[in-house]
Amino acid sequence: TQRSGANLARGTAAGRKPKAAVPPKPRVTPPSSDQDSAGDSASETEGDKSFRDIIKKLPKGIDVNAARQILNDIVVRGDVVHWDDIAGLEPAKKALKEAVVYPFLRPDLFMGLREPARGMLLFGPPGTGKTMLARAVATESKSTFFSVSASSLTSKWHGESEKLVRALFGLAKALAPSIIFVDEIDSLLSTRSSGSEHEASRRSKTEFLIQWSDLQRAAAGREQDTRKDGGDPSRVLVLAATNLPWDIDEAARRRFVRRQYIPLPENHVRGQQIRRLLSHQKHEMTDEDIEVLVRVTEGFSGSDITALAKDAAMGPLRNLGEALLHTPMDQIRPIRFEDFEASLFTIRPSVGKEGLKRYEDWAKEYGERG
Ligand code: ADP
Repeated sequence: TQRSGANLARGTAAGRKPKAAVPPKPRVTPPSSDQDSAGDSASETEGDKSFRDIIKKLPKGIDVNAARQILNDIVVRGDVVHWDDIAGLEPAKKALKEAVVYPFLRPDLFMGLREPARGMLLFGPPGTGKTMLARAVATESKSTFFSVSASSLTSKWHGESEKLVRALFGLAKALAPSIIFVDEIDSLLSTRSSGSEHEASRRSKTEFLIQWSDLQRAAAGREQDTRKDGGDPSRVLVLAATNLPWDIDEAARRRFVRRQYIPLPENHVRGQQIRRLLSHQKHEMTDEDIEVLVRVTEGFSGSDITALAKDAAMGPLRNLGEALLHTPMDQIRPIRFEDFEASLFTIRPSVGKEGLKRYEDWAKEYGERG
């Protein structure tokens, strides 16, 4: 997970590389004037127009400012991730294709007994590719991608959280097919937030569950239609990720009919990722070097591996000191095994054996591994 706040991305943009750190460009620029007062003046921008078009499609009862806020903070055309960018996780990719991508692309085939699940939970240690998977799903299913961090729904907009949740679901229906991706879902649906947690969390949790139920009911009956109710509930899916699955309360957990374990990468997957990370770099790593590296990185997550490779890639520059300012590119030495060795002192796995066992146990009891 490398995101804060919320993002909305249409998964059809060009480009191949996931670039988590690059701020995505907004597609929809909300107008400065209100919906009602926004006329067809000559000064109206493209953004104003597309915002008004979207607002027109929203069901009644959606707060225009909340919708604007979602579209504003939420960004479009962010990082585009494809299946191939994600190392390993074949069972998860297969499950997501079957549960989301194919039904979105061929809704006619997925009815009745084949009705897809309305929610899927991705759980596992941090940095294992849950967010990447969600982004890939949006790209591959050509869906509008609403990526919301649960903590931003509960704390960022005090008092406005219910309106925001309603706007989120309303927009998702209006812009269907849509994926609502909620990261850190535990902080929204935890047992704690129903207890003494502050009012905003409790209310947004309740509203979230109500909206989600409505969606499930409407989709099951296909009772709504795009013209009448401003959206297509059968093509909206809630995808959620958590590093703390045990914090989700039981009732909420049961709503995720599919719970997919996203484990730490196995040996060959780490090898694949290391090779890919090195592929665009000048390096002198032999196959044996990589094999050794694979062995010593047992327990590393995908993001630990990325961090390690980034640190090792700095090795050739670090050795130069101040001289790096005037050393020509072609005289920078290649990355070597010793760089990785040095980096292994500082970059350690984020999850320990104990922590891992907790995930494995939870997966055995409540999850599917594919
Ligand atoms: P999570 O949502 O599970 O916490 P992310 O999907 O945000 O993890 O991954 C964080 C970063 O770690 C990614 O941007 C990527 O650089 C790297 N990463 C994690 N898992 C993988 C993977 N399976 N393949 C390639 N890169 C990965």
